[in-house]
Amino acid sequence: MSVATDLCSPLAVLGHDVQVPLVSGEKVGYAALDYAASSPALQRVWDDVAAYAPYYGSVHRGAGYLSQLSTDLFEQSRRTVEEFLDLREDDQVVFTRATTDSLNLLAGALPAGTRVFAFETEHHASLLPWRREGLTVGYLRAPRSHAEAVARLAEALAEAPEGPKLFCVTGASNVTGELWPVAELTETAHRYGARVVLDAAQLAPHHRVSVRELGVDWIAFSGHKLYAPFGAGVLAGRSDWLDAAEPYLAGGGASRTVAREADGSVAVEWQTGPARHEAGSPNVIGAYAVASACRALTEAGFDALEAREQRLIARLTAGLAEIPEVRVLSLFGEEAARVGVLSFVVQGWNSSHFSAALSAEYGIGVRDGLFCAHPLVRTLLGGEDATPSECGAPEPSLPGERSLNAIRVSFGAG
Ligand code: PLP
Repeated sequence: MSVATDLCSPLAVLGHDVQVPLVSGEKVGYAALDYAASSPALQRVWDDVAAYAPYYGSVHRGAGYLSQLSTDLFEQSRRTVEEFLDLREDDQVVFTRATTDSLNLLAGALPAGTRVFAFETEHHASLLPWRREGLTVGYLRAPRSHAEAVARLAEALAEAPEGPKLFCVTGASNVTGELWPVAELTETAHRYGARVVLDAAQLAPHHRVSVRELGVDWIAFSGHKLYAPFGAGVLAGRSDWLDAAEPYLAGGGASRTVAREADGSVAVEWQTGPARHEAGSPNVIGAYAVASACRALTEAGFDALEAREQRLIARLTAGLAEIPEVRVLSLFGEEAARVGVLSFVVQGWNSSHFSAALSAEYGIGVRDGLFCAHPLVRTLLGGEDATPSECGAPEPSLPGERSLNAIRVSFGAG
């Protein structure tokens, strides 16, 4: 059985039967093992989008039938995401472009003076948006166990002065695939009066997520990592800070009324709710596709999807363990379960060359680099000497040199 066939899943993925040429000249089925970067959109999602095409119309601004229908589909998509995330009554879903966009939106909505805490091991999307005027960021050193993570957070929050606080944490690492103790960290953060945003970019495609049960205040994820096409993502959660903030974008749709004042200035009353941060014509098709992917995953059932993924991870881990030159990267060791994401280095091999060889000689597409999580990968590689290539540009070293980057294999439901 070829790798590609074996990875075929309960959900049909577009492009699964893509044939790629090898250096040998032979053509083989492509094994897409870079789902952590972007998971191929499901055939069903494309079908849903195509079925919507004849009803295409601008939302929230037209009296015509197609406009009304589009508005309904857009708002239904929001309801679907609410159910998918198991949100609380007064939470809201804002459609964004992706996780990075969602976290930047939240950063701009934090009350002035908010202290933000994040482990230095975060993906850059959850590490960097907080570095802006009016906010203070406290980066926490990489923990080597769940208990240490909770203790480090408690210690940092205990020392923090009064005032609004936010803790940002990833649900599953995009480097190691390891799960973080989100419920425990959230409980700790809340005990010290801090709110929590969960970066679920890598968690939501692999695990059922219940915002209600985890207790997090906000959650962010990307459609293109959840089997929908590029271009749409979600920020969901508590309304109060979002409704009090300046709109993410100023423009039509975000404003309730705009009036010229007697002195010639223009006064604006902004919307509350998702519209406040969705100015301009929204990405209706993107939102619709995200909702379609949410429905597909829910119907396939996370229990079944996780069981299959765990079988594949166990097989991969066992196979790699038989190769003495391979070192699998891990922050938490045996303690943490991992989703279908795993990174490793091969002694004596340059990771970029190794990954290129997997593609050229076997038709296996993985990723090499620092995976937009430079501090984490450097910690895991045990040195300060990893190449500073943004998001994994090939490192300029020779075959046989010690690798300064890592190789990532990732797969999922599709
Ligand atoms: N957070 C994590 C854990 C990720 O893995 C990624 C992307 O790799 C992001 C955030 C950013 O997602 P996007 O590029 O879709 O904005």
